[in-house]
Amino acid sequence: MAKVLCVLYDDPVEGYPKSYARGDIPKVERYPGGQTVPSPKGIDFKPGVLLGSVSGELGLRPFLESQGHTLVVTADKDGANSAFERELPDAEIVISQPFWPAYLTAERIAKARKLKLAITAGIGSDHVDLQAAIERGMTVAEVTYCNSISVSEHVVMMILALVRNYIPSYQWVVNGGWNIADCVSRSYDLEGMAVGTVGSGRIGTAVLRRLKPFDVQLHYTDRHRLPADVEQELNVTFHPNAESLVRVCDVVTINTPLHPETEHLFNDALIAKMRRGAYLVNTARGKICDRDAIARALKTGQLAGYAGDVWFPQPAPKDHPWRTMPHHGMTPHVSGTSLSAQARYAAGVREILECWLGGRPIREEYLIVAGGELAGAGAHSYSAGNVTGGSDEAARFKK
Ligand code: NDP
Repeated sequence: MAKVLCVLYDDPVEGYPKSYARGDIPKVERYPGGQTVPSPKGIDFKPGVLLGSVSGELGLRPFLESQGHTLVVTADKDGANSAFERELPDAEIVISQPFWPAYLTAERIAKARKLKLAITAGIGSDHVDLQAAIERGMTVAEVTYCNSISVSEHVVMMILALVRNYIPSYQWVVNGGWNIADCVSRSYDLEGMAVGTVGSGRIGTAVLRRLKPFDVQLHYTDRHRLPADVEQELNVTFHPNAESLVRVCDVVTINTPLHPETEHLFNDALIAKMRRGAYLVNTARGKICDRDAIARALKTGQLAGYAGDVWFPQPAPKDHPWRTMPHHGMTPHVSGTSLSAQARYAAGVREILECWLGGRPIREEYLIVAGGELAGAGAHSYSAGNVTGGSDEAARFKK
């Protein structure tokens, strides 16, 4: 019987919800492109309830315990004395969400002698040292596509919020003011601007599609070019690299995984090549940007605004400069964990567990690492290596 160790974020400060704003969520049958949504044999939760926090347990307990497996759920994940570190040595399966990542460093993988499977309840497995997972022969899987559309909606929201100066204007209202000139002296129309995505996978392409009706000029760069008919339909210009793209864009959105090729891609040198007063939206991973270079660029005006929901490490220390830098629109890591997205990734985790525990193969598109190499979606979009360095800083959040 397997021990499953599941790391989830804390319940709401006022306790697990007793009711919700809406009675249900729309049913999505397929993703764009035809991939089917998760299809486990059963689920033990009502779609639309909070599943990603400790009491929600991703709806997994009845299923696992009825088969004799052990489920341990904790939010205490950072530092040598954390519950995660204590429970890890005899765990066979670790489940973690990128929003509240249980960093599986090489040291932790070495301690976890029985660990065979790391499941990301969401998308983005950079919190696992993929090189160490490859060398150990572990399987790493994520729920590909489960929240890509959720994030693309968030990207559009953040672009509009920055360009139109929404957040400071809202704040004037909350503070009892009516200061129109203060609100609009940094407010523009998106119409006519050049908007580019670094990465045109599931999220990047969905962002392009959503922005097309805004009458902007669209640009993208990616390791693989989009099909010619899609380029034509979106009227989008391809760039061979990020450098070429940022030179011509007023708004840049980052939509690649974090892996050795993209770590600190947006550093002082690349930001200096952006148009002065450009906006940068990063919902991909915090470490794709150089933390201090972003804060510097906002202070000098090289960037007019920065928004996103991803930080490094997570949770971000209380003194992280992105909490206080000017003209930012940061949130905690939330875009991919709407109640709608949670229902999909909880079902996806259940599907992966049913396959693993039942001795059946996991869907190819969910695989990141398998059989000692990058596999499935991982082989397409990642490069091998480790980007977890510095994640132990997350323990500072508690202090
Ligand atoms: P996809 O795999 O569909 O897309 C990623 C794209 O990035 C691929 O097209 C890939 O290229 C491209 N890419 C990889 N490396 C590079 C590079 N060096 N230069 C240019 N392009 C590159 O994933 P999604 O769109 O679904 O998700 C993207 C990322 O967004 C995730 O990995 C995750 O980190 C983040 N994310 C954030 C969430 C949140 O809540 N904020 C939720 C979900 C995801 P190709 O495959 O062509 O080689």
